[in-house]
Amino acid sequence: MTAFWTEPDYDDHELVQLVRDKKSGLTAIIALHSTHLGPGAGGTRFWHYPEPKDAMRDALRLSRGMSYKNAMAGLPMGGGKAVILAGEDKQKTPELLAAFGDAVDALGGQYVTAEDVGISEQDMVAVSQRTKHVSGLPTEGDRAGGDPGPFTAMGIYHGIKAAVRHKLGKDSVKGVHVAIQGTGSVGGGVAKLLAQDGARLTLSDIHEDRARELAIELDAEVAAADAIMSTSCDVFSPNALGAILDDEGIARLDCPIVAGGANNQLARAHHGEQLAERGILYAPDYVINAGGIISVTMEYLCRCHGEPCDINEVRKRLALIPGRLEEIWAESDSSGVSSDVVADRMAQKLIGR
Ligand code: NAD
Repeated sequence: MTAFWTEPDYDDHELVQLVRDKKSGLTAIIALHSTHLGPGAGGTRFWHYPEPKDAMRDALRLSRGMSYKNAMAGLPMGGGKAVILAGEDKQKTPELLAAFGDAVDALGGQYVTAEDVGISEQDMVAVSQRTKHVSGLPTEGDRAGGDPGPFTAMGIYHGIKAAVRHKLGKDSVKGVHVAIQGTGSVGGGVAKLLAQDGARLTLSDIHEDRARELAIELDAEVAAADAIMSTSCDVFSPNALGAILDDEGIARLDCPIVAGGANNQLARAHHGEQLAERGILYAPDYVINAGGIISVTMEYLCRCHGEPCDINEVRKRLALIPGRLEEIWAESDSSGVSSDVVADRMAQKLIGR
């Protein structure tokens, strides 16, 4: 592994730790980008990386992203992320999760983990046997926490309505055409909320049955996975993969608004500017998709610090997402700086960078 501080994605991270446990076979990287606002919070990714340097890059980029996301969501948390380097067979044992829990615990609360790609709620329950610095644990009744997907979807729904108001001057999404890429936990939730308001929907998923089933339920149309980005619509809502907004993807768009929950939508930094040049309003991903982290953070703060964790507290914080987006777009409109850069600058200021 090359020295991490020479990596282009190293951004004065406060701590980058390699964790090795020979007995369980655990190899993990825990990266804390900033603890300026509180303990570094962000999920654990369990993934097979072709090269260790790919895992390092992921840990560095994702932990910085969490600093920005948590700051812009008004949470008293910094940014952190862990990646567990899975073998090719992606085998996950109780011993490996226990060793990972011990590594999180050894940081004494500087890092608070949760689920990410490849890690389930049950895995987090296993990790929580070894450390209390865990969020995203199962929850009951009207309490914060549990599956973050529905909360993420709710925040995106609010964000899409704000974008429609800002760009199209409409107070309602009734009849507004939204093309949704990915109908999983987040995209499916967004579709259901928009359908209740009478939006016109086109749905797409690489698992076409999934999109088709939901389309029948919501009286929506279906587009092929390779056609959704060029669908003529009012809002394109990416809720599947990252890095879809590249030169080719942006050229294909036929819409005035991009607003969705996928992480890291812009393939490269200059693609935000490219969207702005095309007159497309962009909702910065880490601002609009913060609903899930708001919920799991409230759950953690409640469990460890006795803060309020009823669902209304989460809803109150979710309702602030449109205002943050409005602030970003207003600044972008007046300065001519693209919305992604405006958001980055706001986040950097909040974390003292
Ligand atoms: P999910 O796995 O439940 O759903 C993703 C869906 O996208 C799946 O149905 C999958 O088949 C589909 N898909 C994959 N590639 C596609 C393609 N090329 N075209 C169309 N569909 C495709 O995942 P999710 O939890 O809904 O997350 C979706 C996105 O939102 C991810 O980028 C994730 O990182 C991001 N996100 C999720 C949360 C959360 O709370 N779950 C929070 C923040 C960000």
